[in-house]
Amino acid sequence: MEMVYVPTDYSRSLLLAATATGGEPDSLRGRIEASQVHISVDITVPGSSTCLLVLVADLRRLPIHLSLDPGHGSGRLSDDLLDQAVNIAAGIDPERPIKVGAASPDALHVRVGVDHAAAHLNGVPDGHGTHIRRPGHSFPKLRYAGSGLGSVLTAAMLTGEIFKTVTTLRPGSHRRIEALDFCPVTLFSPQEQAPEHLHVERLALIGAGAIGTAVALILRALEATGEMTVVDRQIFEPPNVITYSLGSGQEAAARLPKVDIVEAALQHMNIRRVHGTVDDLIAQIDAGHKPMPQIVLGAVDNIAARHDLQRIYADLVLDGGTGGRAGTTVSLHEALPTGPCMRCYFPASTTTLTAEQRLHQATGLPLARIARGDQALTEDDLRGLPRQGRQLLERHVGKPVCGLGRVMGLTTAAGDDSYQPSAAFVAQQAASLMVGALIARTHPGGNPVSIRQIEYDTLHGPRPDIVDDRRPRSDCYCQTNTDIIRLVRAQRAKNILTQ
Ligand SMILES: [Zn+2]
Repeated sequence: MEMVYVPTDYSRSLLLAATATGGEPDSLRGRIEASQVHISVDITVPGSSTCLLVLVADLRRLPIHLSLDPGHGSGRLSDDLLDQAVNIAAGIDPERPIKVGAASPDALHVRVGVDHAAAHLNGVPDGHGTHIRRPGHSFPKLRYAGSGLGSVLTAAMLTGEIFKTVTTLRPGSHRRIEALDFCPVTLFSPQEQAPEHLHVERLALIGAGAIGTAVALILRALEATGEMTVVDRQIFEPPNVITYSLGSGQEAAARLPKVDIVEAALQHMNIRRVHGTVDDLIAQIDAGHKPMPQIVLGAVDNIAARHDLQRIYADLVLDGGTGGRAGTTVSLHEALPTGPCMRCYFPASTTTLTAEQRLHQATGLPLARIARGDQALTEDDLRGLPRQGRQLLERHVGKPVCGLGRVMGLTTAAGDDSYQPSAAFVAQQAASLMVGALIARTHPGGNPVSIRQIEYDTLHGPRPDIVDDRRPRSDCYCQTNTDIIRLVRAQRAKNILTQ
């Protein structure tokens, strides 16, 4: 096979850094590229090897110098684990291999473990949660073996702390975590439970992008079983390697559908792929070809898509998001068909249009035509358009319609994530909130929890005040059309029985 080398594209993680610091991406890049980070791990801590591999991948998504302590004596990492770490780093950037060996003198030392004497930063998973400590702060006694969720969250939090240091964020723009104990299942409530095996039925994941691949990474780390429908219409491309939690440069070169990347990661689950839109999934549910999901995990990046996934009318929506000025804020919106629904959280607004709606408004090209995005624009398409639309589009005849908004500079942050700052360690924290809520709400005998909204800036870290209860908006569609919603749900429930 002929290999075409495409340099790893760090632009979006650099954009996140530049937006967070208020600096210029170019000078920042120089500073980040000069940074040295050294990783070590206490392999006797349960969950530490999963945590290590995610940490290596998350740190490799920054253009820093990276080294890994192989350990010695009985604490030496196995050859298999070392190989996995080296291969994961190479899959993300073959030009920047991770060095296995001693730290350079100036390196920032991050350790997976509780014995923090030599490290600048320590973290360990504890059950589904994490403990992060700087020197001078002692760890509590670990209660449980670290789960896959706890391991991924620990790696994401440690990467966030490294990110703050290597980008030299200004005081006031962030909070350096000295000591943090956080569990995305129990949040800050005192109730705790030992991690159990996660088995899911009739789960749907809408979106296999930055957050969707982070959800899949966590489900894989949890060794979850059961079945899940995954919906995404896009192709995995080179810039995604730096911002997504799954997928290598080679897979990007192969231009696989994003749903295939998720399916390949979840070998223990029965994955039903929908390489298409939410409307395609709804059509397949109504035709009895796909099960009606009970729980929908929303991993989309715009409001229109959130409204779309609400129309599945599953029993529960757990919608994760990243956003805020610098793209560092994470959120979870829990939604019910009876309200609060996604429209209660995100009322329709004319200022937030999708890329498709923008292209339609600028050119008059019908939305139904724009939806057939893979088909090239033809002279026929231009006939009947307003003059301005024809003038804008005539240079682009022969190009696929789906990329036109971007080519014509019509896209903004809403609807097209091409220019949004983004980092895998942020998306993994959003995904941790989603999977944490999934576990809390599917745990047999678990206490019923009110419908919540959670939001925090990863540059500050989670705190007890990040959780709010939500009620429906009285003028929302979910409150004014309860009969229609009940009918649709009853019809789709019937389809489940006739399959
Ligand atoms: Zn509503």
